[in-house]
Amino acid sequence: MWVEPIPGEALESWLAAMATRMDATWGELLDAVLPTCVDGTAASYRGAVLTTSLTAQERQAISAATTLDEGQLDSMTLAGRYGAPLITTDSRTGRARTPWGLIYRQRYCPLCLKARPGRRKLEWLLPWMFICVEHRCFLVDACPQCAQLQTVFDWFARRLYPHPDRCDRLVRTSTPPHRCPARLARARPDKLREGHCVLSMQQRLTELLAMPTVDEGVYHRAPVRPEQLLIDLHVLGNWIVKTPQVPELIQVFGGRPTAHEVGKWVHRLSFPALPGQPGSHQAGMPSTDRIALKAPAAWVAAGVTAALVVLMQPSLHEAEEALRTAMPSIGTRELRFRRRKSGIVSSPAVNAMMVKAKVADLTVVQQLRYRTTTDLPQLPHTVRYAGMNPMFHAVPTLFWQEWAFCLDIEGWMWGVTRQLWSRLLVTIGCTMAEHRMKRLLRSTVGAQSVAQFAEGLRTLPYWDSIVAALYRIHQHLQANPPPIDYQRRRMLNYGGLLPEAQWNHLVAEEGFRSSPPTAEAAQLWLTEQLSGAPVATGSLHDRIASTDRVRGTLTPNLVKKLDAVALEHLESQGISGEPTTWEPPLSVLDGVSLPGVPAKAIEPQKIHNLLAAGLTIPDAARTLGVSKWKVRYQIERHPMPADLVASRPPKRIKGRTAIRDGERIQLEPLNDARSHPSRGLGDAYRVDLRTAV
Ligand SMILES: [Zn+2]
Ligand SMILES: [Zn+2]
Repeated sequence: MWVEPIPGEALESWLAAMATRMDATWGELLDAVLPTCVDGTAASYRGAVLTTSLTAQERQAISAATTLDEGQLDSMTLAGRYGAPLITTDSRTGRARTPWGLIYRQRYCPLCLKARPGRRKLEWLLPWMFICVEHRCFLVDACPQCAQLQTVFDWFARRLYPHPDRCDRLVRTSTPPHRCPARLARARPDKLREGHCVLSMQQRLTELLAMPTVDEGVYHRAPVRPEQLLIDLHVLGNWIVKTPQVPELIQVFGGRPTAHEVGKWVHRLSFPALPGQPGSHQAGMPSTDRIALKAPAAWVAAGVTAALVVLMQPSLHEAEEALRTAMPSIGTRELRFRRRKSGIVSSPAVNAMMVKAKVADLTVVQQLRYRTTTDLPQLPHTVRYAGMNPMFHAVPTLFWQEWAFCLDIEGWMWGVTRQLWSRLLVTIGCTMAEHRMKRLLRSTVGAQSVAQFAEGLRTLPYWDSIVAALYRIHQHLQANPPPIDYQRRRMLNYGGLLPEAQWNHLVAEEGFRSSPPTAEAAQLWLTEQLSGAPVATGSLHDRIASTDRVRGTLTPNLVKKLDAVALEHLESQGISGEPTTWEPPLSVLDGVSLPGVPAKAIEPQKIHNLLAAGLTIPDAARTLGVSKWKVRYQIERHPMPADLVASRPPKRIKGRTAIRDGERIQLEPLNDARSHPSRGLGDAYRVDLRTAV
């Protein structure tokens, strides 16, 4: 009673062939080959459970009963042949789970069934198999007579003879229930010419899925596992088949869209009329998953073939062009990264290609958001997840100065420029609305300015380097989160930080005296240092001048003490282990040629000498031919030695002020009059009292 398994046969098909040979019902056969209970019967199975995978006991029992080698038995099951993670066994139903979902149906080749009646191939259960390569025809989904999709549930019933050559529909309404008598071999095969793209892509897919990783075509830069390839084909194929453009599809397949060919594909892609349903409507399935488990072979073929043709292009650019051919509507589609419960998320390579196909329609800010100039553009997170963007914790509202100097853009106020750089940096990969981002960052810069700034950048000759630098910084910060949580710093209360008395005391310890405006400026300056965000109070003009006086008062000792004050404040707010300020290493930008030069290129000694000679910071900057902010930056990090500060010559006095014994009076110009022509000279000078050592 021996029946030889045919190559690639499914386990239950072979068992059914044995039952047929022995003239046994399916139940009698199972009782003979499976482990049995006390009553002598085997457990009842519904659906292709044995073909999914075998337990050790089942394997042993079948092997003992049939003398077929255990390894060979396994190769006739989905789990044994394809294995995890392509195929896993669903613990509840015992059926096979694939990246496309739970297998519940099977296709068949009518020509194979004609040649070997009743013998079904294992691969017909795989939802991504749509072609019989041997016969160059589409697999068939439904019974030629009752149009019932061939499922796996009613494959065989215990009390019936298997009849594996017949439609597996069980007519339960009749007593006793019987199977649909239609022979599947009667179905009309839909053949393809030799070398057709659909044939070769089916073969290519089988080969790719057998490899440990896929690194061909667009995956060259970002290889994926075979199961991810299936997910990508699912996502992309669905897009393409959702609104199939038949002539374009034929072009993607490398054919000519003749009337005959178009007619053939229109027929294949139309929804087959179901018996008992009104008319042969073309509405198709309401489901969005057109190439998933429910879809007929031709649909899956069209989607998967077109998607695979696109994915196997030698470069992202060519893939993007092929995608635009297959899907002319791509430009109008919204792209967004979605986390799905199902885990169906397309791979970086596919996302990159989809973004590339849209670049022409994107604004500069959107281009940054999608990282379009990188090798692998990425989809941003959805709005819902944007708030969890770790970059908000990694980026201060006021961009790190040294990096801003390297990026160096003229024409914007420094305090604004720094905010703009930070805004652009957090825009990368983030879909948060600009007004929300502004509020979250406690920024003073509106969306309009961000867009204007970005558009302006694009016109610059070194735009590409600037973008490369921003991506580089973004990547660095993601991989190496800063020691400071800037989001927490922004929200902190700085109310009690450095009261006037404390500042006066600290300055007095250095042998100087300060004025109330300078004390206030010192407090605001320290707040800004700690919070990384702008403190918006009063006139910016006066602020800068007062803060320059703070900078002129700084000595190495005072800087240390201020640092201690800052740390104490952080600790009082429950933050420990963070430095007061931090800057990422400039080396991150090595190799990117940027227009600006960092402030560290200016020797502190030179600045000290100029200030000691009585020059103001703006004057010193003009003398050195560098930006005022670079001088400010350097003097904050390399304060003047105390004796130099003390030896600075007194200035002309304007207005009345009381001078006590041992006091020298010093005036500093607040700002160069040129930048504020509206201001009278009288306002531009303030008195600063200082005690000589
Ligand atoms: Zn065949
Ligand atoms: Zn039928």
